Amino acid sequence: RPKEVDSEHSNKAPPLAGPNVMNIIVVAAECAPWSKTGGLGDVAGALPKALARRGHRVMVVAPRYGIYKEAWETGIRKVYNVSGQDMEVGYFHVYVDEVDFVFIDSPLFHSWSNQIYGGSREDVLTRMVLLCKAAVEVPWHVPCGGVCYGDGNLVFVANDWHTALLPVYLQAYYHDNGLMPFARSILVIHNIAHQGRGPLADFNRLGLPDHYISKFQLYDPIGGEHMNVFMAGLLTAHRIVAVSHGYARECQTQEGGWGLDWVIRENSWKLRGVVNGIDDIEWNPELDAFLNNEGYTNYSLESFEVGKANCKAALQKELGLPIRADVPLLGFIGRLDYQKGVDIIAQAMPWMMDKDLQLVMLGSGRSDLENMLHSFEHQYQDKVRGWVGFSVKTAHRITAGVDILLMPSRFEPCGLNQLYAMRYGTVPVVHAVGGLRDTVHPFDPFTEQGLGWTFDKAEVSGLIHALGNAIWTFRDFKDSWRGIQKRGMSQNLSWDHAAQQYEEVLLAAKYQW
Ligand code: ADP
Repeated sequence: RPKEVDSEHSNKAPPLAGPNVMNIIVVAAECAPWSKTGGLGDVAGALPKALARRGHRVMVVAPRYGIYKEAWETGIRKVYNVSGQDMEVGYFHVYVDEVDFVFIDSPLFHSWSNQIYGGSREDVLTRMVLLCKAAVEVPWHVPCGGVCYGDGNLVFVANDWHTALLPVYLQAYYHDNGLMPFARSILVIHNIAHQGRGPLADFNRLGLPDHYISKFQLYDPIGGEHMNVFMAGLLTAHRIVAVSHGYARECQTQEGGWGLDWVIRENSWKLRGVVNGIDDIEWNPELDAFLNNEGYTNYSLESFEVGKANCKAALQKELGLPIRADVPLLGFIGRLDYQKGVDIIAQAMPWMMDKDLQLVMLGSGRSDLENMLHSFEHQYQDKVRGWVGFSVKTAHRITAGVDILLMPSRFEPCGLNQLYAMRYGTVPVVHAVGGLRDTVHPFDPFTEQGLGWTFDKAEVSGLIHALGNAIWTFRDFKDSWRGIQKRGMSQNLSWDHAAQQYEEVLLAAKYQW
């Protein structure tokens, strides 16, 4: 770990020792850098390392979607029954940055390496059942560094509906039988909009005792009577985390809870909001490996004006846009769907194209929105680039090269791109919702404080107003602009702070009898 990353501004508490050192097993459907479709992958890759830096023994369990050359086969093989069918899995292991990464190996995961949530609803459910059944037994079967984790001071951290079955299996297979009585489970809500809904008959695929059905059975106007995997996890986990304070609040409202608001309200005693951090090695303009060639240059707080200018020119060149320092260059990165508000940017297009500005959008997802990106590029060739696809390198380069990052998300549990943007001296313009509201404090020209621009309703008028002010400041108030950039870059956004708060949640679970 490079020395300069441990900034002296870090307000990190000293690592734990003694009885509060825990064995933590984070279980997730994706884990960067091996698998990632969004923020969940980033969190599963980075939070565990920060928890390990605090002195805990930490493991991540995720599917093995492909050949991960650094991970070795442990030779452990187990058979689990899923939907009445016996399925054999293997366990692969690699130790990186003081974290044990364990990958569950099955042909079922290999076939979905390019589309990890792809296939029919039943297919996805089968994969998640297999993952959770295999994960809950890892502390017994898989020796890491020669020794299994066992159940001493053990806490599972499950993530989203995909692994919400884990707390349920821990309860049904172990606690109900007097086993692992002190093992605890935390369920993290990254996105409550996806819940693992299906017909109630799907309950039979889960391999649980009949009386557990009540934890899964939900009737609501969205799905009628159905099986809801996320609900069962929320009811069973010892503690719940939402990925920002704002999202912890919004999940409990009818608008933001997607039918589970009342479940979260009734369990709010065990809910806490913890804002995600960022991986300060992966997303660090000083160290970023995608910024050291083709005209891009690394930069720090001291050198950002030159560094960002280089990156902007390199990005304009790479995209074939006119190379101009004075024109505001806007960016968007994200999944192309309703949540991210790409259509709101589309509505703002006539207004934007009337101005002297450039726009680059990177994303993949809904095919109509992908086509829309192509057609923008076609229509406004000298101003717009629409890059359809998933490219980590391009995401880094856009984050460094643009002046302004647009995030008009309708809802945003935490949002990582605005954090990356601020770390890179790029100014976010965001809809004030969820984690965006928590992290982007609006610029106040009178006090010269704030980190970007926000708007209150996910509507085009709000975006235009905020963006108009951002562009005006970029052009005419250069000192204010530099101030915003510097404040953004100087924040300590690392995972260390978040890891400390997760630790408090884990301890609260541990001492709950
Ligand atoms: P979500 O998890 O809802 O997709 P987040 O903002 O929490 O949104 O995280 C998104 C992550 O995925 C970020 O790391 C972002 O850079 C990355 N990402 C999203 N779309 C793309 C893309 N098309 N290419 C590369 N990275 C992407």
